[in-house]
Amino acid sequence: MASTSFPIFDVTPAPPDPRLRDSHGRAITDLRVSVTDRCNYRCVYCRTGNDGAQYTELPIADYARIIRVFVSLGIEKVRLTGGEPLLRKGLADLVEEISSLDPKLDIALTTNGHLLEDLAVPLKRAGLNRITVSMDAVDPEIFARITRVPGSYERVLRGVRAAQAAGLGPIKINAVLLRGFNDDQVEAFARFSREENVIVRFIEYMPLEESSADQNARPWTPEIVVPMDEIIARLEQFRPLVALPQNHTSETARRFTFDDGLGEIGIIAPVSRPFCGHCSRVRLTSDGKVRTCLFSQTDHDLLGLMRRGASDADMAAWIRAVVMHKEARHHIGEPGFLKPSRSMVHIGG
Ligand code: SAM
Repeated sequence: MASTSFPIFDVTPAPPDPRLRDSHGRAITDLRVSVTDRCNYRCVYCRTGNDGAQYTELPIADYARIIRVFVSLGIEKVRLTGGEPLLRKGLADLVEEISSLDPKLDIALTTNGHLLEDLAVPLKRAGLNRITVSMDAVDPEIFARITRVPGSYERVLRGVRAAQAAGLGPIKINAVLLRGFNDDQVEAFARFSREENVIVRFIEYMPLEESSADQNARPWTPEIVVPMDEIIARLEQFRPLVALPQNHTSETARRFTFDDGLGEIGIIAPVSRPFCGHCSRVRLTSDGKVRTCLFSQTDHDLLGLMRRGASDADMAAWIRAVVMHKEARHHIGEPGFLKPSRSMVHIGG
């Protein structure tokens, strides 16, 4: 008997997109977690030089739980930062816990590199995928003038090489240029990228510094920012640049190599070319507050909710509601701009 055949359509509804979304339609896939408010450097454009940590830190198990809840909401990349994250006891345990959540999760760390020489291998073994080292000069004297720690350049360089040897590459080096202070380092950084096989990324200075009356401080002004176009012009004088394609749409850096394909440079220009429209980030401070923008005027007390006995599902619902109110963009350079309620080192960069 002939059977009746029906055209086959797949009527299974598409699974709902589990990713966090804000009210501007942006998917939030990138979580930055500060694991300590302490830092062993006192960089002149970041900290006053006198003040220490201002906020507490949570037990490692609390960060692990919060990160687990975020990952259940579609977070794809977790970056550990601080303060200085390598000062934090139990960091490798946290990395191990995070890496056990989902093998596809991208786990990265931003560090000043001072303690990296000894920690690169344990962190790699724990499951860390990638590392970014902040270096604002490749000249030992200028470097120490910025960090206010003698001998810091040599230590960080050993840390970068140890991370490279441990397989934490491609290593990214983040440099914040300040006019009249380290902006003569552009060509030297280009050479550094080529010789050390690292990606050097220049980041425009943002108004996120601690306020200070210190004479060494470099408070933010529009004039001190070295904008992207100027960095590109200086690099072009060194060697012709060739633009590289974006890795993904929310990538913050414009990428370049040189005409011979050696070296990679990224330029992150939040001041002269804001990229808020593609922002995929949410942040957790060391004391358990959620921040939806670097320039937020408030933060949201996730730790308080946890301490009141919230379940993971309660926390997830709360996070969804908070992220919904993520700011559309920052207002750097506009009349009436207000500095955020915390400076960079106390947020987690
Ligand atoms: N201690 C770690 C480090 O040095 O990488 C992590 C924290 S640090 C605050 C993170 C990054 O923020 C560093 O690369 C630093 O250069 C950058 N940063 C600090 N203040 C900044 C500012 N006002 N504008 C742009 N970047 C800033």
